[in-house]
Amino acid sequence: MAGAAETPAAAGVSHVYPHGSRLNERGRLEIGGCDVIELAEEFGTPAYVYAEDDMRIRAREFLSAFERRTDRFEVVYASKAFPCTAVYKLMAEEGLSCDVASGGELFLALRGGFDPAKIYMHGNNKSVAELEYAIEQGVGTIVIDSFDELERLERMAPGQRVMLRVTPGIKPDTHAYISTGQEDSKFGFGVDEVPRAIAAIENLDLVGLHAHIGSQVFQLDPYEKLAEVLTGVGEYPRLNLGGGLGIAYTQDQKPPSIDSYVESLLRGAPDGVTVLCEPGRSLVGNAGVTIYRVGTVKSIPNVRTYVAVDGGMSDNLRPMLYGAHYEAEIADRFGGHSLCTVAGKHCESGDILVSDVLLDEPRPGDVLVTPATGAYGHAMANNYNGIPRPPVIFCRDGDARVVVRRDTYEDLAARDAV
Ligand code: PLP
Repeated sequence: MAGAAETPAAAGVSHVYPHGSRLNERGRLEIGGCDVIELAEEFGTPAYVYAEDDMRIRAREFLSAFERRTDRFEVVYASKAFPCTAVYKLMAEEGLSCDVASGGELFLALRGGFDPAKIYMHGNNKSVAELEYAIEQGVGTIVIDSFDELERLERMAPGQRVMLRVTPGIKPDTHAYISTGQEDSKFGFGVDEVPRAIAAIENLDLVGLHAHIGSQVFQLDPYEKLAEVLTGVGEYPRLNLGGGLGIAYTQDQKPPSIDSYVESLLRGAPDGVTVLCEPGRSLVGNAGVTIYRVGTVKSIPNVRTYVAVDGGMSDNLRPMLYGAHYEAEIADRFGGHSLCTVAGKHCESGDILVSDVLLDEPRPGDVLVTPATGAYGHAMANNYNGIPRPPVIFCRDGDARVVVRRDTYEDLAARDAV
C-alpha cells in the first residue's frame, strides 16, 4: 500500500497532507503518487483530490486499535463527513459499519454496498418517509432522538433494534455549532429524561445508548467521562460513544492519535460492553485536498493581497460557517514569504478561504492547494452563484480516477420544471 514508506517531514510536506504525499523531483505536490499540477490540467479546477490509501490506513488504524484491546467493538463510519458512493464502498470493504443522517445518505450507503444490518440511522427529525425507507431496507439500528420519534417507531416498526441518543451534559472545547453533547441541544434525550424514554418502550428492541459530544475535539478526558455518564444511566450491552476526534487542519495542530482516542473510549466503559464509535473527519479529513487555479492577484498597498481562486464558499463552507482555519500553498512552490489572503469567487466579502497565509509570489495560472478538506467539503458543496460543484478524484499508486464528476451547467437546470 502506498504511503507508509516516507514520513511527511522527509517528503517535504507536513502531517496535514494525506499519507504518502510528497514534493516530487520537480518540487510539485504529489498525492497518492499523482502530480497535482497534472491533475489540474487533466481534470480542471477546483477539484477535490484524495489519497485513497490514506482513508484505508486510517480505517485500519481504528480497527486494529480496538482489536488489540477487545473483541467487543464496532467502528461506524460517520458518512456525513464525506457521503460519496466510492467512499461508502471503500469503508464497507474495510469492514466498517456506517452511520447515516438522512434518507439520502442511506440511499448512498446502500448504493455503495453497505449491508443494511450494519447501518445506524440518525437524525433529530427523521421524517416518516425516511423511517419507512429505513425499515423497508432493513436498517440494523435506528437511533431514537425524541419522544415523538419513539412513539412513531413503536407504531411503525415493532421489534426494530434501537438505541437512545442521550445528551450527556458534556461540553467539549470546540466551536458552539459543532458541540452537541451539552444539555441545551436539539439532539437526543437529557440524562434525566432517559428513564421516562425507556419506560415508554414497549415493542422496540433497545440495545444501548448513544451520545456524540461534538466534533473537532482534541481532549480525551471527555470521552472517558462520556462512557461513565452513559453507564450511570443504565446497563446496556452496547454503548455508542459517537465521533468527534479532531484532526490537524494546520501544521501547529497535533491531535491525539487514533490509538489513544480508542484507549480513552474503552477506559471509561465497563467490561463486557460492546463499544462503538462513529469517526467521520478523522477517517477522511486529512485524506483530501482541494486544488484551485489562481485567477487574479489584487494587492492593496499597506492593506492586503487578495489571491482569488476559482472556487470558494461553494466547495468549502467551513471557514464561513465555523471560522475554520486552513493552510494553502502554491502546488509547485511550497513555502514563501508573501502574506496573502486566499479569496473565493463568490459575491460575498466573507468568501475568504484562508486569511493570512504565506505564499510564494502567487500569480494568475498557479495551482493553489488547501489541505485537510477531505471532510465536510464535498459534503457541504453547493451551487451558490451558479457555480458547478467540483469533481472528486481518487489517487492511488500514481493512478487517478474520477469518482464524482464535475457538475455541468446543464446540471444546474436539471431540476427545472419549466
Ligand atoms: N456521529 C454523530 C451522531 C454526528 O452527529 C457526527 C457529526 O456531526 C459524527 C458522528 C461525526 O463527527 P466527526 O466527523 O467529527 O468525527
